[in-house]
Amino acid sequence: MDLYEYQGRDVFEKHGLPVLAGGVAETPEEARAIAERLGGRVVVKAQVKVGGRGKAGGVKLAADATEAYDRANDILGMDIKGHTVHKVMLAETADIVEEYYFSYLLDRANRTFLCIASVAGGMEIETVAETDPEKVAKIAIDANRGVDEALAREIVTAGHFPAEVADQVVDIAIKLWQTFRAEDATLVEVNPLAKISSGKVLCLDAKVTLDENAGFRHADHEALEDKAAVDPLEQAAKAKDLNYVKLDGEVGIIGNGAGLVMSTLDVVAYAGEQFGGVKPANFLDIGGGASAEVMANGLEIVLSDPAVKSVFVNVFGGITACDAVANGIVQALAMLEGRGETVTKPLVVRLDGNNAEAGRAILDSANNPLVQRVDTMDGAAERAAELAAAGK
Ligand code: GDP
Ligand code: MN
Repeated sequence: MDLYEYQGRDVFEKHGLPVLAGGVAETPEEARAIAERLGGRVVVKAQVKVGGRGKAGGVKLAADATEAYDRANDILGMDIKGHTVHKVMLAETADIVEEYYFSYLLDRANRTFLCIASVAGGMEIETVAETDPEKVAKIAIDANRGVDEALAREIVTAGHFPAEVADQVVDIAIKLWQTFRAEDATLVEVNPLAKISSGKVLCLDAKVTLDENAGFRHADHEALEDKAAVDPLEQAAKAKDLNYVKLDGEVGIIGNGAGLVMSTLDVVAYAGEQFGGVKPANFLDIGGGASAEVMANGLEIVLSDPAVKSVFVNVFGGITACDAVANGIVQALAMLEGRGETVTKPLVVRLDGNNAEAGRAILDSANNPLVQRVDTMDGAAERAAELAAAGK
């Protein structure tokens, strides 16, 4: 989960990192009130979950509260790389002398944590990384050791930070690592990490990504979720504990096991090319031991997506054998009827693996006109794509 800057700023503050006082507003009036509270002179910053706001005109200085009202008025409603600005953050302004870059991230490719730090921060950091890579230090962080003072000093040296800010950056490097660990983040990025005219070093931007898989350890993280931006189907699925991701195609997908579902997406997209480019409408993994109820919940979510024209249920029987899954599908359809949901979209079911024959026999004898049985994954994908194209 990506956080907005104002949320990241709060997280930084909670962990003792040096940030400036701020507040968040949804209207110019609120912006003016916050600017007054902060003493008038403020920076007004678009809150969107995308980088490059500065270059896009989403960061503006205001000399007083009236100007803060005007700048908020300009920025609210702006489009930044396809993201509409609904909120602005107001913060005390800083008299920036130098802009540095500092981040920790989960480096999946190298299976480690990584620190990226550079004295040459600011809005051109990507260019610097390309033209002067030696200016950008990349240091792997051992998960067990973490960042102690000795390593923080190494980072500061490798990033070419000047001597007069070294102690402050060391302190920030350690606290930022503690933040990263304590919050189960996969990214904390500060750009600019700025030296201001008094010589103090401050975190003037905050980009934080939290690991949702660790959400169970952080009761406070749920409140950071942007409910308005979450897809309503994904929200409904989450409430039912389903592993669902909305995509933008027409073939609803239900499978058991994340790997199987991923490859189902591929075969459906591939088969769909023959039928005018129909695509998978979602990812949904109902897991290994799916009961009829879980199947019914899954079908309900997938079928309630108006873009869905056909559904492909792809099951490989394992611990839960195919006969149990077939019974689950039959009962799920009855359950949906019972909930007053009239199912009208065709379902293509492929059953393979443990007790496949028994499962297929159950589907055949149930003889539901909406259910078509195809026994190979490719064949079923093709049939589902064809039905989706016909239903468009
Ligand atoms: P980003 O472009 O989306 O990363 O947004 P930033 O928060 O990094 O802001 C972009 C730029 O605006 C920074 O690199 C700074 O140069 C400038 N900026 C941000 N906050 C302040 C501030 O408080 N005072 C001043 N003078 N400039 C700021
Ligand atoms: Mn920035």
